[in-house]
Amino acid sequence: MDSQDFREFGKAMVDYIADYLDTIRERNVIPSVEPGYLQELLPKEAPAQGENWKDVLLDVERAIMPGVTHWHSPYFNAYYPTANSYPGIVGEMLSAGIGCIGFSWMSSPACTELEVIMMNWLGKLIDLPEVFLNCSDGPGGGVIQGSASEATLVGLLSAKEKIVKDLRKSNPDLTEADIKGKLVAYTSDQANSSVEKAGLLASVPMIHLPTDNCILRGETLREAIRRDREAGLIPCYVVATLGTTGTCAFDNLEELGLVCNEENLWLHVDAAYAGSAFVCPEYRHLMKGIELCDSFNFNPHKWMLVNFDCSPMWVKNSQYLVEAFNVDRIYLKHQHEGHAPDYRHWQIPLGRRFRSLKLWFVLRIYGIEGIQKHIRTQIDLAKHFEQLVCSDRRFEVATSSMGLVCFRLKGEDNLTQILLDKITANKKVYIIPCHYQGKLVLRFVICARTTTVDDVNTSWSEIVFQANEIIPRSQI
Ligand code: PLP
Repeated sequence: MDSQDFREFGKAMVDYIADYLDTIRERNVIPSVEPGYLQELLPKEAPAQGENWKDVLLDVERAIMPGVTHWHSPYFNAYYPTANSYPGIVGEMLSAGIGCIGFSWMSSPACTELEVIMMNWLGKLIDLPEVFLNCSDGPGGGVIQGSASEATLVGLLSAKEKIVKDLRKSNPDLTEADIKGKLVAYTSDQANSSVEKAGLLASVPMIHLPTDNCILRGETLREAIRRDREAGLIPCYVVATLGTTGTCAFDNLEELGLVCNEENLWLHVDAAYAGSAFVCPEYRHLMKGIELCDSFNFNPHKWMLVNFDCSPMWVKNSQYLVEAFNVDRIYLKHQHEGHAPDYRHWQIPLGRRFRSLKLWFVLRIYGIEGIQKHIRTQIDLAKHFEQLVCSDRRFEVATSSMGLVCFRLKGEDNLTQILLDKITANKKVYIIPCHYQGKLVLRFVICARTTTVDDVNTSWSEIVFQANEIIPRSQI
């Protein structure tokens, strides 16, 4: 393919994407395919001769789209959002076009330098304490990870190395193996599955502590640390969640931070979804105590209009990351070391994409006001949905926080389960369940950037339509 073909293919693809997003409401949000469907539609081997891009594009609609779950449909109300915006998409395009691998400053200075500046912009935008920013005098700084899962693991691996160094300094007889074999970490029973996975990957048991109405409290952590120290274990790491996956609950950061600081534990904050809300000052009280944590992470790729993947992580002391992950080779060295971060030391892989471009595009083209408007609109839409649920006496709202409303049919869980099965089978609206206080609830999340009040009403009509088959309106 030469550059002329690329111009045509690229322009055709831009049209295809714009048409797809403009008409997405016409497609069922859940696809009607069975496992293995694509094997029936594509050849068993790659083509011997190159094909025309127009044929490839035709096959996107014929073979791929029937198997796509439409995450950007306003009737996709499952999980949490994954961001999608035109500036974000174009930023991805440029990142692919430049195609650099920014593992060190020298390997593409703009890649590192734009990331440093974006981490400062974004940190200031959510009012992170200055100590976390690259522009502060100290060793703090931010980096874009690929996912919240990686950020949690990076935090844990750094905490692990730090505690080994700390303990061996005060007690040189202890071996690394003695210490590592006794480490434990904590999180709440509401934490995302990725937190448990970080424990598995780092070989540190991740203990799930009980919550108080889905919120992890300081006293619970303190008691667990006391119990485990008595048993000869070495507590080293805590993951607090601001905006849990199930119900968007907020752990008590201030209480947890005080305990972690007293006990010398690394406190990592996973604000994967809800962190974007901190662009709005009225939600910042939920991050009270942030100055007490060691690392903080959220996903603009969820709720802040930056296409996947973009998961900024800030640390108070980047030296701990660099010390944990520094594996050098002569071919990676350069003459400017020490003057700017070499981000390969802050992450798991060596290679890294130019992710900050899409963040820059989004921040500039939406502006702070545009992003705040997006968050506030989505929260208002969730409130509208909550009112709709409350207006029907067959239903009850279990929790409501940010863009998420958890609701259920009153009565036994099996009614709610049947409702969910019917909604899913009809494929027009996508919602998923979770448990709240021992009961089955349905999570309804405002996800698509383009969602309107009419869309929320349409989703609700489908839920009511299915509910009528379980509990007819005449019975209420
Ligand atoms: N943490 C929380 C609270 C989440 O809700 C999620 C995903 O929804 C994650 C972590 C995982 O995010 P990622 O896919 O970026 O690893």
